[in-house]
Amino acid sequence: MSPDAPDLDAALAEAHLPSLLMALVHLTGDAGLLTPERRPVYAPFTDPRDGGYAPKVQADLIARAKAAITAHLAGAPLPPAPSAATVRKMMDWIAGIDIPEPYAPFLTEELHLFDPDPKRPDWSDPALKAKAAGMRVVVVGAGMSGILAGIRLKQAGVDFIILDKNSEVGGTWWENTYPGCRVDNPNHMYSYSFEPNDDFPQFYSPQPVLRDYFLAIVAKHDLRRFIRLETTVEEAAFDEAEGRWRISVTTPSGARETLAADALITAVGQLNRPRMPDIEGLESFAGPAFHSARWRHDVDLTGKRVAVIGTGASAFQFVPEIAPKARHLDIFQRTPPWPIPSETYHSDVPEGVKWLMRAVPFYGKWRRFFLFWTLTDGFLPAVTADDDWRGGPHAVGAANAELRAMLVEAIRAQIPDRPDLLAKVIPAYPFGGKRALVDNGVWLSALQRANVELIDTPIARITPDGVVTADGVHYPADVLILGTGFQASRFLWPMRIVGKGGLTLDEAWQGDARAYLGIVTPGFPNLFMIYGPNTNIVVNGSIIFFSEGAVRYILGCLKLMAQIGAKSLEVRREVHDAFNARVDAANLKMAWGSPNVTSWYKNASGRVSQNWPFLLVDYWKATLAPDPADFILTAKAKADAPA
Ligand SMILES: Cc1cc2nc3c(=O)[nH]c(=O)nc-3n(C[C@H](O)[C@H](O)[C@H](O)COP(=O)(O)OP(=O)(O)OC[C@H]3O[C@@H](n4cnc5c(N)ncnc54)[C@H](O)[C@@H]3O)c2cc1C
Repeated sequence: MSPDAPDLDAALAEAHLPSLLMALVHLTGDAGLLTPERRPVYAPFTDPRDGGYAPKVQADLIARAKAAITAHLAGAPLPPAPSAATVRKMMDWIAGIDIPEPYAPFLTEELHLFDPDPKRPDWSDPALKAKAAGMRVVVVGAGMSGILAGIRLKQAGVDFIILDKNSEVGGTWWENTYPGCRVDNPNHMYSYSFEPNDDFPQFYSPQPVLRDYFLAIVAKHDLRRFIRLETTVEEAAFDEAEGRWRISVTTPSGARETLAADALITAVGQLNRPRMPDIEGLESFAGPAFHSARWRHDVDLTGKRVAVIGTGASAFQFVPEIAPKARHLDIFQRTPPWPIPSETYHSDVPEGVKWLMRAVPFYGKWRRFFLFWTLTDGFLPAVTADDDWRGGPHAVGAANAELRAMLVEAIRAQIPDRPDLLAKVIPAYPFGGKRALVDNGVWLSALQRANVELIDTPIARITPDGVVTADGVHYPADVLILGTGFQASRFLWPMRIVGKGGLTLDEAWQGDARAYLGIVTPGFPNLFMIYGPNTNIVVNGSIIFFSEGAVRYILGCLKLMAQIGAKSLEVRREVHDAFNARVDAANLKMAWGSPNVTSWYKNASGRVSQNWPFLLVDYWKATLAPDPADFILTAKAKADAPA
């Protein structure tokens, strides 16, 4: 056994058994292990670690795994790789259902058992390489998406630079330092598909771990030299004659500088610009007042009266952390969130599990695959509206109502003797109407503390010393914390982006941002967005998946331009419009498009401008490569073309 190996029995006792079964097939080459009694059965919100196997099956599996792992560590060679048909069967086995056929290539790629990195751009053709070197790209934003773009542009050999207004990279995971901030997708899935990390300390790691993950990726891919920090993009204008963007930035010294680029990639996030609530008197508050994304670590909350506005994802995480410190905490709620129970939300990854991921071939890959399947498209039917549903506005279909009943029960069980509180925390809107929040019980136990009050009467105004609700009650406060989210509908704001004919994005969109695949929009050639309109998700998966799709597509567009010597590439309006019509129709059929839901997913006109309403496999397919027929491609004049 390797020197850093823990007690193998202890490690196996912590193993996710269906993933262990998959590893065992690799270690033994025996596809005959995929027997019906070893097919897992998963019940929602239960610990699926044991796969629902009978105790005898569990013990047998662990004994076999122990023997195979011991032999492997002693140097036994791996048998030949399982055939494609066996891998296909293994997918069905670990998922516990027969995965529909169209998913097979998609999931095979996500699993990528053997290929080094199937999403790596291939610009190996020497002629293409030469053209790549002559192409200049500016990326705005050095968060998860901008870093990803940098990695792929560097691999392709394209000349690029990444600009970020902050003094460090990491975006979301650098800016949000509020107590309790952590990822709410399992971390082994919230990481780049090509950069797994077997050492995440928790199943849902806290913000410093995510920040350090992205810092380590920047170092590993040697991206620092391509990044300019404290550099804010103010404006970008497209020069039609030259087919180039002129980008006006404020540099660290405060001076203005103009950069030129053949293509502009925005990676500015949907959740980067804090939203301040429009409440009368906000400015008059005399004590410290701050947004959760601008946490004031210099303000000691010990013994203070604290007022929190909002019960969204951030407040859900920081309230349990600050409640024990504050003398009194008043939380002002507009609508309650849906909590999704997860026992492992704050749990450490046992050392044995980390070791299994590092040392047992393919265990970690199948574990990620399992998370990917069960937490993504597997969930979607339960949030899709059934046209024939007549069961009332609290649900959108029978499966949705069933899920609702289970979640309501989970809430009730946590609040046995506070009917007043119970009435406030059960959402009236359907499950899936807003992003559900992962929960291990700390939220509702915080709300039941003697020093905490949840107030659902609307706020009328803020005074120098507190908050007044519509019923005239004054809640005194020393500190005001705004957990009021971000300006999510204002894509690319506050940059001024000027496209063809001098039209700005603001004028083109009129408050209703739209793009084809969330990436390209008519009238703005050579502009590519990552995490753009309609690429957010409510229940199925992580944003990293979308950014990886968008970046692959963008690299495909740049390759197309290089191959044919195009100076500009602009999506055809009819392609864009037809796509958006499909998106709008599909969003209306989802829980988050329900007329009973008001949320940040909808813009001022009520249109869902944030969310992707289809399956993940649909985004994967759509972003594999651009279809040249979708674009107007303008060739370079002979004199402009590089030799
Ligand atoms: C608290 C919090 C928790 C989250 N948890 C999850 C989660 O669990 N799972 C999940 O999938 N998603 C989560 N998200 C969404 C998260 O934003 C994305 O997962 C991801 O981090 C987005 O990365 P990004 O690079 O696209 O954007 P960001 O991380 O927002 O980075 C954008 C970058 O662009 C820079 N920038 C913006 N405008 C300019 C400009 N004009 N000039 C120069 N630079 C500019 C910013 O400074 C920033 O560094 C969470 C978001 C928040 C706020």
